[in-house]
Amino acid sequence: MARFIFVTGGVVSSLGKGLASASLASLLQHHGYNVRIRKLDPYLNVDPGTMSPYQHGEVYVTDDGAETDLDLGHYERFTGVVSKKSDNITSGKVYQKIISKERRGEYLGATVQVIPHVTNEIKEFISNDIQDEDFVICEIGGTIGDIESLPFIEAIRQFNNDNGRENSMFVHVTLVPFIASSGELKTKPTQHSVKELRSLGIQPDILLCRADREIPADERRKIGLFCNVKHDCVIQAINANTIYEVPINFKNEELDKRVLEYFKLDNSKEIDLKMWSQVSKHILDPDGEVSIGIVGKYTGLADAYKSLNEALSHGGIFNNVKVSLKWIESDELNESNVNLKLSSCNGILVPGGFGERGSEGKILAIQYARTNNVPYFGICFGMQLAVIEMARNILNIKDASSSEFGNSKNSVVGLMTEWTTSDNKVEKRQLNGDLGGTMRLGAYDAMLKKDSKVFKIYENEIISERHRHRFEVNNNYEKDLMKEGVVFSGYSPDGLLPEIVEISNHPWFIGVQFHPELKSKPFDPHPLFKSFISAAKDQSRLV
Ligand code: GLN
Repeated sequence: MARFIFVTGGVVSSLGKGLASASLASLLQHHGYNVRIRKLDPYLNVDPGTMSPYQHGEVYVTDDGAETDLDLGHYERFTGVVSKKSDNITSGKVYQKIISKERRGEYLGATVQVIPHVTNEIKEFISNDIQDEDFVICEIGGTIGDIESLPFIEAIRQFNNDNGRENSMFVHVTLVPFIASSGELKTKPTQHSVKELRSLGIQPDILLCRADREIPADERRKIGLFCNVKHDCVIQAINANTIYEVPINFKNEELDKRVLEYFKLDNSKEIDLKMWSQVSKHILDPDGEVSIGIVGKYTGLADAYKSLNEALSHGGIFNNVKVSLKWIESDELNESNVNLKLSSCNGILVPGGFGERGSEGKILAIQYARTNNVPYFGICFGMQLAVIEMARNILNIKDASSSEFGNSKNSVVGLMTEWTTSDNKVEKRQLNGDLGGTMRLGAYDAMLKKDSKVFKIYENEIISERHRHRFEVNNNYEKDLMKEGVVFSGYSPDGLLPEIVEISNHPWFIGVQFHPELKSKPFDPHPLFKSFISAAKDQSRLV
């Protein structure tokens, strides 16, 4: 039977509960256990798909087509376990389900209430779709004390009671801040947060205390005393040099041993975390550096492109170089500054994006990369805009555009209203239907042309990558572009949707309709990112 570990957060947000959950999962895997990690998000959106990346960071897409929280990306990158739709729930989803059940009359005249209807729905989610997992780690979004998360806290309290306390445990991540004026680490915020948690009926079994320096044993003992936690279960989580060091730090603090001890499992095995020490070493001690310009819209918030940052750094791990990212706000690019702003980049990348704002700046950056032989990587929107750029500047179709920006005579990129899913069903969309959950989402196969650059990179004819888009490149323009050396080198298996474009006589110019960054792992970097960073490394030797 699966054992459950509930991870909550206290004091402030952004303490890295997601990373803590993912790192703990990795340690348990090293002990030979099967793990799953789930995220319970208290906000009312049905999924994060319609939220601004500024508010919520990147939307992570799973193979089975769910738009989920970016923490699921951490989970996959740390464990290699493919996340599923059933691994992320929001209050919005819970209420949507309950309200439609109520409308169908499924509650038989009962008054529908938070307890038991909402909490039951949450409990069902927690234990749903579990096969042979030894551990299921459930991270609860938000911070203890938030109004929104109350039903979730109540649900995990009940779950623990229903399933036998020996089968689940509570880990609480808190902050122990250093106050410069008194020169001391302060334990009070942690005490208060645990007090709040206990008032909701939950006694944490382990405290993971984030701090920017060692927490002296005396202070840890004090936290244990005030919070009713065994003193060796008050574990310090000191800021790491790279996120990939966190599993190593947790092992050194014996987090794995305490968890196994709780569940009365053998904890005597010394696990070898060579995998993480090698990854960390490549990140902390690289041999050289490349600079990649990312031309996008939400460049002020690194979380908006979380998986992309990580995938680029994985490309750096493989090539043993530091990848330094230069964030360029596409709105601010124009003809007179583009050369200056991009001249120091060894590679240029236009990531996924939506809407017209900033698109002209991105097109200028693509033109710069194409005409100056600078490696260019276009992801989703970045591929669509690359085709628009080439239609305008190579084929001379001056009004080439995307129907995403309004009607144009020359919609090089158009709205998809019909496509075939991976299990051969036809999906249809209305031209002006809902925006939420109506994209081509999740993993789809693509067929690669045998003599193409991408075929050499993937070393495979069939690939599977994750998608999240409404629009597609119109292949009516393929013939004319081909004459100019532009190859549509990847297509959907039915041969209808262009998946990849590349330029033959360019050092590295590849646009993909999918999001390869979602599948890259530090211990298994994605082939396109390995190859892109290697091209940027070659370029850096030229300048
Ligand atoms: N806005 C484009 C579309 O919907 C691209 C989406 C993306 O980059 N993920 O097709």
